[in-house]
Amino acid sequence: MAQTDFGHFSGNFTHPFLDEDGDKLREECGVFGAINSEDASATTALGLHALQHRGQEAVGITSFDGKDFISRRGLGHVAENFSSAEAIAELPGSMASGHVRYSTTGGAGLRNVQPLYAELASGGFAIAHNGNISNAQTLRKDLVGKGSIFQSTSDTEVIIHLVATSRYPTVADRLIDALRLVEGAYALIVMTPEGMIACRDPLGIRPLVMGKLGDSVLFASESVAFDVVGAELIREVEPGEMLQVDFNGNIKSLHPFGKTAPRPCIFEHVYFSRPDSYFAGQSVYEARKAIGAELATEAPCDVDLVVPVPDSGVPAAIGYAQQSGVPFELGIIRSHYVGRTFIQPSDAARHSGVKRKHNANRGLVAGKKIVLIDDSIVRGTTSLKIVEMMREAGASEVHFRVASPPTAHSCFYGVDTPERSKLLAARMDLEPMREFIKADSLAFISIDGLYRAVGSKKRDKSCPQFCDACFTGEYPTSLTDLAGKSQKDDELPFTDAPNTDSRAA
Ligand code: SF4
Repeated sequence: MAQTDFGHFSGNFTHPFLDEDGDKLREECGVFGAINSEDASATTALGLHALQHRGQEAVGITSFDGKDFISRRGLGHVAENFSSAEAIAELPGSMASGHVRYSTTGGAGLRNVQPLYAELASGGFAIAHNGNISNAQTLRKDLVGKGSIFQSTSDTEVIIHLVATSRYPTVADRLIDALRLVEGAYALIVMTPEGMIACRDPLGIRPLVMGKLGDSVLFASESVAFDVVGAELIREVEPGEMLQVDFNGNIKSLHPFGKTAPRPCIFEHVYFSRPDSYFAGQSVYEARKAIGAELATEAPCDVDLVVPVPDSGVPAAIGYAQQSGVPFELGIIRSHYVGRTFIQPSDAARHSGVKRKHNANRGLVAGKKIVLIDDSIVRGTTSLKIVEMMREAGASEVHFRVASPPTAHSCFYGVDTPERSKLLAARMDLEPMREFIKADSLAFISIDGLYRAVGSKKRDKSCPQFCDACFTGEYPTSLTDLAGKSQKDDELPFTDAPNTDSRAA
């Protein structure tokens, strides 16, 4: 058995969807897999294209033709790497999996682009991982001490080495053995010569769904990928579930880690997932509208217009407008062609990134009292620029409402968060935040309001129904790699735990 690896550097690191100010949390990865498919690679490329919002720096697809594994990887978007018939023809076979990624854990570079591949004693092993292993450094140090030689700096490679060194007879058992040692978040698609294995961590922090297209079984980070390839959503891969699919179409479900109360990432509802996806059994679009309606109830505002910060604030703004009875209007127009870095003609233009991306609808907002709705505030720099833009366009009052609680903590589960000292809500209480973004008033939805909006009566304090650690600081797993280190979270001079109640200033 052999692996062919085509590495392509195409595209660059500046992309139309990328937030130029780094002022959004970013999902780091999306995964897709297809087995028993006549067009496994083409389906995977199309599925990954629908998941492009989850990672835009690099993409990889590995296929299996019954004998060999073939990989093709590149920097840039899916379309830049996998839209040609030639690229797909390089990836033959009835099974393929792929991955889109940002590069936080492990850094950029082709060697970290997934699926990662290894020749094990049992044969080829290709793995695509969404999430982050919070004890990867500890495990890696141990493995290196025992003689393992790592090819990449990706945390995912730890799983490969744990599988390689496990003494269980089958690959599935070795994978279970390996994952028992792993902490953190993972949604995995693994390919072996026997078939495909999909697995989600016991808490189900990162999403993974199963679909069907004719005789082929598909897995994806989000259901929207199935819509795009014309497949049917079957169900979520359950937290802690391992699904094995062979080349005869047999599907076997195991729960090797026992059942624990799940803690899926609540930020999928707020921002990460596409609004046309389903997450945790709910339409993401409807959940976002419900968040906006809850926000309107908790933090009403005497204004003329409800204005979304495009595009992610739109569903919550619709919900806010419907609940409050205030007209919803597009007071900010987004350009969809802002990707490239331009040679800046002047110093002033260097600061105009936000204006190239968003522009005020001057004729609409002049002389009006408006409330801006955004999904979250991370650093606050974009919020400030947008408030200033609205004032320059003549808005008489600019209020700000946020469809998530204050983001005051870093994520260690596969989401690119700035270090904690850069998070506005980690540095400031509500009134200083309002002053920083120069809004007339500022309010965030409460953590209980967010839970109500996504279908829970209230947050169960003893066992929350979701991971909400970036709001509450209550991490659902151990963070072994951080233990004993100078954790930036702890260096900040907090006297109180950040307040996650609904607050208005
Ligand atoms: Fe999601 Fe926040 Fe938990 Fe990370 S810390 S998994 S972003 S809820």
